[in-house]
Amino acid sequence: MEKNRTRSDESSKAAFAKAKTVIPGGVNSPVRAFKSVGLTPVYMERGEGCRVYDIDGNSYIDYVASWGPLIMGHAHRQVIEAVKKTAEKGTSFGAPTELETLMAELVCERVPSVELVRMVNSGTEATMSALRLARGYTKRSKILKFEGSYHGHADSLLIKAGSGVATLGLPDSPGVPDSVASHTITVPYNDLDAVKFAFERFGEEIACIIVEPVAGNMGVVPPLPGFLQGLRDVTTKYGSLLIFDEVMTGFRVHYHCAQGLYGITPDLTCLGKVIGGGLPVGAYGGKREIMEMMAPSGPIYQAGTLSGNPLAMAAGYTTLSLLTPETYEQMERMSVRLQRGFEANAAKHGIASTINRVGSMVCPFFTETHVINYETAKTADLERFKAYFGSMLDLGISIAPSQFEGMFVSGIHDEAAVDLTIEAHDEALRRL
Ligand code: PLP
Repeated sequence: MEKNRTRSDESSKAAFAKAKTVIPGGVNSPVRAFKSVGLTPVYMERGEGCRVYDIDGNSYIDYVASWGPLIMGHAHRQVIEAVKKTAEKGTSFGAPTELETLMAELVCERVPSVELVRMVNSGTEATMSALRLARGYTKRSKILKFEGSYHGHADSLLIKAGSGVATLGLPDSPGVPDSVASHTITVPYNDLDAVKFAFERFGEEIACIIVEPVAGNMGVVPPLPGFLQGLRDVTTKYGSLLIFDEVMTGFRVHYHCAQGLYGITPDLTCLGKVIGGGLPVGAYGGKREIMEMMAPSGPIYQAGTLSGNPLAMAAGYTTLSLLTPETYEQMERMSVRLQRGFEANAAKHGIASTINRVGSMVCPFFTETHVINYETAKTADLERFKAYFGSMLDLGISIAPSQFEGMFVSGIHDEAAVDLTIEAHDEALRRL
């Protein structure tokens, strides 16, 4: 690591200025604008393995991984080959292909709760469709979600949301009608008593609980022991569905997703990110009896011009095929190494720090508070994060520009990369 390296950003600045003339805020997804850290977004040119290269010629060890999908790193040779080979035969047909069935078989085989699965184009579509299915199946309207969780930008779910909504400090979004918002109940994450209280009042009206089995949009917040089981029990008792939003955790924290890690089986599961291998994919699946309610086998409607797109299926299928139990062991080793290194650095510099980690999702919070929900995540020192983020970037480490997002260690981060990251972290803390 070059401590005195200077990072130029003239080209990124020019690119951003130009983008702002034709794209709202210059970006196609809000947090990419780096607004909360007060910097110019870095325009990327290419990626290879665990490194990315920007248009000013700087390189970075990357822990953003395109916000989670790139679990086998950038431009993995086999993924690129599969996409190329598929593209040569045509990019989309709007007719079924055998690749879709292969992909569905693989998902059903690995995800314990999934007997049937429907492919869509994003995590947002997956959660939105799963909600419609839960409401249609139970014939109830209300849903319960957790404060600081993010499930995409569908109206019902943009209430007390995490991720970019938390990063930018935006209240519940304008444009969501009160009549829609009134069907969403929110309670603090990891608070089973609050969930039970909500069910005592509204239980017969609640279609589902939607939960990130590891919250990843308020930093990284693991479920407390008994929390997920408690959600399973309460939904069963009241005839509501339990939806695991595994868009982030699916195939990220365990070979069998978070539900495999914790041994809790939801009724429906939403997937995205990793299953697309870097192309736009989402999916929702679950019990056969419930999934059969979707058109054309049932009356609940959901469709997509590009759903099950061949290129996306090729990238996703190849990525999932590359993931073996050994990949997860490697990621665990590297993630533990990163966590220990960061903890030692924080102790050395006397910086208040709490590091939450589940598998390859790692989040160093600038707080000494035990982070178990959004309230405690918000005790983190955001000004300190801002300075830290800028230093890490200057030192060649790419992390998400928000205290409310974790780092993603991938299957190709090796000891050398992790050790360089720990050195950079040491220097970044020294500069605080
Ligand atoms: N659900 C979770 C848990 C997510 O983290 C995200 C995105 O970050 C989404 C849903 C939405 O996915 P997408 O951005 O693909 O629409």
